[in-house]
Amino acid sequence: MQATITVLSGDGIGTEVTAVAVALLQEIAALGGHTFTFQEALFGGCAIDATGDPFPAETQALCENCDAVLLGAVGGPKWSDPSAKVRPEQGLLRLRRHFNLFANLRPVRAYPMLARHAPLRADLLEGVDMLFVRELTGGAYFGARQEQGDGDTAYDTMIYTVAEVQRVARVAFRAAQARRKHLTSVDKANVLASSRLWQRTVTQVAAEFPEVQVEHALVDSFAMQLIRTPSRFDVIVTENMFGDILTDEAAVLAGSLGMLPSASLGEGTFGVYEPIHGSAPDIAGKGIANPTGTILSAAMLLRHSLNLPEEAAALEAAVQSALEVGARTADIAEPNLPTLSCADFGERVRAALRKVH
Ligand code: NAD
Repeated sequence: MQATITVLSGDGIGTEVTAVAVALLQEIAALGGHTFTFQEALFGGCAIDATGDPFPAETQALCENCDAVLLGAVGGPKWSDPSAKVRPEQGLLRLRRHFNLFANLRPVRAYPMLARHAPLRADLLEGVDMLFVRELTGGAYFGARQEQGDGDTAYDTMIYTVAEVQRVARVAFRAAQARRKHLTSVDKANVLASSRLWQRTVTQVAAEFPEVQVEHALVDSFAMQLIRTPSRFDVIVTENMFGDILTDEAAVLAGSLGMLPSASLGEGTFGVYEPIHGSAPDIAGKGIANPTGTILSAAMLLRHSLNLPEEAAALEAAVQSALEVGARTADIAEPNLPTLSCADFGERVRAALRKVH
């Protein structure tokens, strides 16, 4: 197949980890007889430096004319002055809004060989394999907000429509259908009106997916269950702010921020794929970042945007196999194993990919 992928490397380690993922996508294309065209564009802090805008019109045009976007990370101390009018993160919000990317998918797996890097006991991590579906364009982050009076009062509005909940719930149900057929919907329906609408709507959508078992959980008790019995969850769907918090909590189960991928999807096949970590200014330029989250994001890109499930599975298997034979970056280092650079880790995955294929 032919596909065009826009690469927004962004800032800091973003450039290092996307370079590895692009090389692996090129390998996938070569092995499978596909033609992937990569188009690079400025995004985030580097785009502010070059054009004054974190999401310049030329970048938007390239994103509009492609099948999927692979994104690194944006931001860094240079652009983090809170009083600055233009900030890299504004580019992320505009990108999500422009393409109406309302569903953020974040798979979280605990790898047994990395258990000692996670703060939970190894027995609790056994079998942890869950998928968060976070609503990404609604709720308190997009509702009306204001500071009032002398600044001694302020409010934010957590607002949802039935249509907004239906569309993200369907993404979650479809994902559950393709997995272990269990969905946990997280809300705060004992207090919040928006959560009661959420719960009611998820229950209605459930009728379309009779084979999926649904449970509703209150966000406070879910936050506890996520740490007490993480392996019992399959797919979790929740609103924007709860999802923001819970996905960071879940991220520690994987042992390192560098391990986790994400996909932001809208109604069609187009999506934006990025690791969950930031630009890591503390290690940027050293070539030691863990590219796994970006590689696994590339696998999600292959599956969701390019409809290449076998290639996606091969890339995931190659990561697993590289880890099994001892490939480790500094964040997941083991005393008796060599610590690899970002690029060398990528080469180990490439070698595994050739074997898997
Ligand atoms: P961060 O994720 O960049 O880093 C947190 C810690 O994890 C650091 O110690 C870092 O070295 C480590 N880390 C992160 N990714 C790693 C990887 N792949 N391999 C090895 N170690 C890794 O979060 P932060 O330090 O809070 O933020 C730094 C900048 O990134 C800020 O400007 C922030 O706004 C931005 N940020 C951007 C995104 C995004 O682009 N989506 C997300 C989060 C933070």
